[in-house]
Amino acid sequence: MIPQFEPWLGEEEVLAVAEVLRSNWITEGEKTRQWERSIAQLCGVKHAMPAPNGTLALYLALKAIGVDKGDEVIVPDFTFIATANSVVMAGATPVLVDVDVRTFNMDHEKLEEAITPRTKAIMPVHIYGQPADMDAIGDIARRRGISIIEDAAQGIGVSFRGKPVGSFGLAGCLSFFADKTITTGEGGMILTDDDELAERCRILRNQGRPERGPYVHPHIGFNFRTTDVQSAIGLAQLAKLDSIITRKRRNAELYRTLLGDVEGVEFPCVEVRGFNVPFRVNVLVKDPETLMHYLEREGIGARRFFCPLHVQPCYRTYAMNGDFPSATAAYERGLSLPSAATLTETEIELVCRKVRLFFEHCRP
Ligand SMILES: *Cc1c(COP(=O)(O)O)cnc(C)c1O
Repeated sequence: MIPQFEPWLGEEEVLAVAEVLRSNWITEGEKTRQWERSIAQLCGVKHAMPAPNGTLALYLALKAIGVDKGDEVIVPDFTFIATANSVVMAGATPVLVDVDVRTFNMDHEKLEEAITPRTKAIMPVHIYGQPADMDAIGDIARRRGISIIEDAAQGIGVSFRGKPVGSFGLAGCLSFFADKTITTGEGGMILTDDDELAERCRILRNQGRPERGPYVHPHIGFNFRTTDVQSAIGLAQLAKLDSIITRKRRNAELYRTLLGDVEGVEFPCVEVRGFNVPFRVNVLVKDPETLMHYLEREGIGARRFFCPLHVQPCYRTYAMNGDFPSATAAYERGLSLPSAATLTETEIELVCRKVRLFFEHCRP
């Protein structure tokens, strides 16, 4: 079986966890401070603050900029559902906008149309490891005086015009879930250059006080802390990030080479102003469902694209006045092929042979 995705864990992570356990300090401590500093440096920001997962990182960033009931936050229709869920959790209303048909990232013309006096934030997503158009989105946000909170959950290592994603907005959020580029099992990070916002995040994530210690809490906050066990895994993963990125990009290239001439298979556009880290290797086909089942019967894991928010049973009411042809087109055509950094060339060749066979013989 070739899985659609698997994390790349090994002896490095095992040793890192053992070291933490032997130290007898497993809550947030020195490893977590080191993890924060390393991520901040990698992403080119002043502050990086951990959260239990990416969804809660987004939620905390929204709360820290004051998002509340009656506010609107603009999100792309085509994303993993957590983007919108974090907005609802913060008490606000997600406003869905369609995406660019080529990149599947937020369409900036639609974005401009969706802005109202209630718009409190714009939440672009760097979908599938491809940077959103931060030139256009940044211009609009500046002109209209609206904050950007980037959902960079799939974006570690990704940059736009040489600047890491997650560092463009007032805040940016990463996820370290098991299928992300690097993982700590569950985990997230809030990035910002803004000292005051960082302070508010630190207070909110630590029961309303800036430091551990006295049981006197100036504010009401929550517990959004992580553990040194996870931070140690993160540091071990970070040491492999360059290799992971190289492998992911090489794998995507190999798929393109081996499937480039297959009639019926198209590859999505690559954003030329960016450096992308393929979160998934994606193809566009006429009938992704049938191809997916065929590959599964051959022992190959594949996965449909994210289901657009406007067709989610739970978000239909948020999409009353919207029109989302590009998100719909992406969903109807997209399939993610095996995408792990651990894939061998032989495995990719096998997948491509099966895809080719499907289009030569099995296609109705
Ligand atoms: C994974 C993901 C999230 C949520 O991260 P979790 O760590 O799973 O909570 C949010 N947005 C996008 C685009 C994601 O891919």
